[in-house]
Amino acid sequence: MKKIAILGSTGSIGTQTLDVVRNNKDLEVVSLVAGSNIDLLEKQIIEFHPRYVSVGEEEKAKELKERLKDKQVEVLFGMDGMTICATLDEVEIVVAAVVGMIGIRPTIAAIKAGKDIALANKETLVTAGHIIMPLVKECGVKLLPVDSEHSAIFQSLNGEKNNKITRILLTASGGPFRGKKREELKNIQVEDALKHPNWSMGRKITIDSSTMVNKGLEVMEAKWLFDVPIDAIEVVVQPQSVIHSMVEFEDGAVMAQLGTPDMRLPIQYALYYPERRMLPGERLHFEQLMHLDFEKPDMDTFTGLRLAYEVGRKGGSMPTVYNAANERAVAMFLNRKIGYLEILDVIQYALDQHKWIENPTVEEILVIEQEVYKMIEKKWPSL
Ligand code: NDP
Repeated sequence: MKKIAILGSTGSIGTQTLDVVRNNKDLEVVSLVAGSNIDLLEKQIIEFHPRYVSVGEEEKAKELKERLKDKQVEVLFGMDGMTICATLDEVEIVVAAVVGMIGIRPTIAAIKAGKDIALANKETLVTAGHIIMPLVKECGVKLLPVDSEHSAIFQSLNGEKNNKITRILLTASGGPFRGKKREELKNIQVEDALKHPNWSMGRKITIDSSTMVNKGLEVMEAKWLFDVPIDAIEVVVQPQSVIHSMVEFEDGAVMAQLGTPDMRLPIQYALYYPERRMLPGERLHFEQLMHLDFEKPDMDTFTGLRLAYEVGRKGGSMPTVYNAANERAVAMFLNRKIGYLEILDVIQYALDQHKWIENPTVEEILVIEQEVYKMIEKKWPSL
């Protein structure tokens, strides 16, 4: 039995991870962590029998405890609860799939406790990659990417240990507004931006995909995971989302991983690495596919991607500001407080105001996050 903890079990990645558990009888759920969706968490507890669960707030924990009076499960809450769930003795691998920088502390605690990490929560690496990567090495644990692009790169690197990477070709679908110009994006509404052409994901990442900020975050994530300079990572728009990413080596060979868009594949691969298991689902049919298209990303329209390269080159505290400002801007857009194009204005404003720190500690990262929130609140007091 492989024993797992799932942080963010009620989200898009979390529920798909539980789907993988359903299909494999040798995975055991030890703990589950959610934010506020206790209705779904309750159903998950009844189906998967975790021994520990945690939710965001104490009130929700009380309510859940009341509902589960006759069940053998410990109900915790807050950062402490999430950290306990991630570090329990019997847990072997932690699926880090909460959304946002709230994932940093429990992920670090899990690494220190010797747990392997299946990482979906990209914000953790984007903001604290300089702390996480050395820690992973020091603690001798595995950090297995769940993001489909990073899993594709990881799979393309199998057996290539000492071979030099010349380029990482990070593919992007281009999102729902591919081909549109800035002028045409002015009046985009929440509903338009939530329609992703190929992937079904949580709300925040879906908006990030539409602005290509998600791709920018992925570029920074790839830099840390694969130890390559930012400028060796090239974004290639591949609208069918069939090629999940590629790696070019110094002899010019390009290795790629292809498949239908299904997050359960990278999740399952991370849980069983290096073994591959049967995964029911759609298969690629090349005769139906007929062609694969490729484009350069339009960084004049999707300026968030260009900005991510600048931020990634500068490093230090800049990625934290970029990420925190984007989190807040996306929340304001989802609450219809700002327009679509203003998401980038908010990020730019926060970056312009920030005083750069070269090597921020975890504490500093979390302070910067709060400072960015306050700074935005002051300028856009509508949230
Ligand atoms: P969702 O919004 O669907 O899910 C987020 C999860 O985090 C939910 O379970 C939510 O709980 C939980 N959560 C939120 N706040 C808290 C909190 N304070 N304490 C504990 N749990 C909390 O996000 P996704 O699954 O889409 O994304 C998760 C991460 O994975 C993100 O970092 C994203 O970038 C990354 N990712 C996602 C992909 C996808 O296909 N969805 C692909 C690649 C990466 P609740 O709902 O109960 O409030």
